[in-house]
Amino acid sequence: MATASASHAYKNFINGEWVAPRSGKTLENRNPGNTDELIGIFPLSSREDVDVAVSAAKEAYKTWRLIPAPKRAEILFRAVELLVKRKEEFSRDMTREMGKVLAETRGDVQEAIDMTYYMAGEGRRLFGQTTPSELPNKFAMSLRQSIGVCGLITPWNFPMAIPAWKMMPALVCGNTLVIKPAEDTPLSTYHLVEMLSEAGLPPGVVNLVGGDGPDAGAPLTKHADVPVISFTGSTSTGRIIAETCAPTFKHYSLEMGGKNIILVMDDANLDLAVDGAIWGGFGTTGQRCTAASRVGIHKSVYKEFVGRFVERAAKLRVGNGLDPSVEMGPCINEQQLQTVMSYVEIGVKEGAKLLTGGHRLAGGELAKGWFHEPTVFGDCQPKMRVAQEEIFGPVVSLIPIDGLEQGIAVANGVPYGLSASIYTRDVNHAFAAMRDLYTGIVYVNAPTIGAETHLPFGGTKQTGNGHREAAVAAIDFFTEWKSVYIDYSDKLQRAQIDNN
Ligand code: ADP
Repeated sequence: MATASASHAYKNFINGEWVAPRSGKTLENRNPGNTDELIGIFPLSSREDVDVAVSAAKEAYKTWRLIPAPKRAEILFRAVELLVKRKEEFSRDMTREMGKVLAETRGDVQEAIDMTYYMAGEGRRLFGQTTPSELPNKFAMSLRQSIGVCGLITPWNFPMAIPAWKMMPALVCGNTLVIKPAEDTPLSTYHLVEMLSEAGLPPGVVNLVGGDGPDAGAPLTKHADVPVISFTGSTSTGRIIAETCAPTFKHYSLEMGGKNIILVMDDANLDLAVDGAIWGGFGTTGQRCTAASRVGIHKSVYKEFVGRFVERAAKLRVGNGLDPSVEMGPCINEQQLQTVMSYVEIGVKEGAKLLTGGHRLAGGELAKGWFHEPTVFGDCQPKMRVAQEEIFGPVVSLIPIDGLEQGIAVANGVPYGLSASIYTRDVNHAFAAMRDLYTGIVYVNAPTIGAETHLPFGGTKQTGNGHREAAVAAIDFFTEWKSVYIDYSDKLQRAQIDNN
């Protein structure tokens, strides 16, 4: 059986075969917790590689779209069974390439498993509607139709879950695809693609092209034969992709930044709120688009909450994610670590109170990785940069609030609208927050992270462009509606005219 790797040198997957990039260029993937550890050498592809992959996907689309959806789904069911068997191995590989702790990489692979089961199930649904016509002897229905070749561009923080969120709905709906994984974490996408290939996916239906944004990602977004782009990543790249897709009216779904908040009310269970804020703020080293990077705390419980939260944050064990005693891994790369350090400086300069952390960790075993202390800023004003901008690292900004109304104004007073949470035991507060928080996701008595695959995922304002991933929302994105009218009256019937 062909495999992706030979002595850790990985190739592109095009038309069912592993092929070297035409560019001849490669990229080293190293463990962010120990840069001495080489995970593998991956392709740095160019436009030519993308062109070949898109042609393969275009050719395969002709037949894939005609395979009945329940049969397409059977391949996904077979792939997910293989994924389940290799979950532990893939989780360990993900920790090595991405850094987050093993419990979290197991969660990431599990999310890919959940999404694949869910979307495979859609193979026997993909429901449309039938509805009465306004005219006699006429039948009306709506059907979903596939679109064509999808270009998928994914980030490094959920190296298998996010590729699965995009690939599985695209495939079950009858599309073919080219995926360009993140430069920092390609291996997990390789694992996913290998499982699909082993499960019997026909050649050309899924193509994997490794490389960086400008040389491999951009040509995919610009390609005339790629009518659909699904992207998750930074706001700045999302904006470029939107501009690229607009002139030819491609379908494009953008999933970008967040500046999510946990509101802690005066009647909250504080133990629960501290647990949630620690997990939401420092899980995945704060490198989640849903990370709880702000906590708005009612003034009457502020002192108590802050004391407990800071004590817990300072005690978090930071290190190699494969060590079961470690609670927080490294930043993904040097650049991300620099970003975190620059925001620490910004916060101090603008007058936020540095309550714990604030430094790179580089002693002993951590010397070879991109580690940073869990960091907490207190007494933040809502408009400070550390309370407004996405840092994507282990930095949490604490904001005192007067009550629910002001808390919601603070929550909504950022350019993003992904996730928000409220800790309260007052049902009136909970329902008012569910109504008034202008985000795509709201949690009550749980942190801002922890989305499940059968509910829509995405955000308002500058977090996205109105689409949602996961659940039936993903099916909506990867299909087009077609309304069909069948007239069996044997005469011309004019809607809105002959029946009035
Ligand atoms: P991050 O800062 O989280 O790495 P990016 O937006 O830079 O976010 O990267 C997310 C994904 O977008 C990656 O796969 C990256 O290679 C890709 N990417 C970056 N720039 C472009 C671009 N100009 N066109 C298409 N894809 C890009």
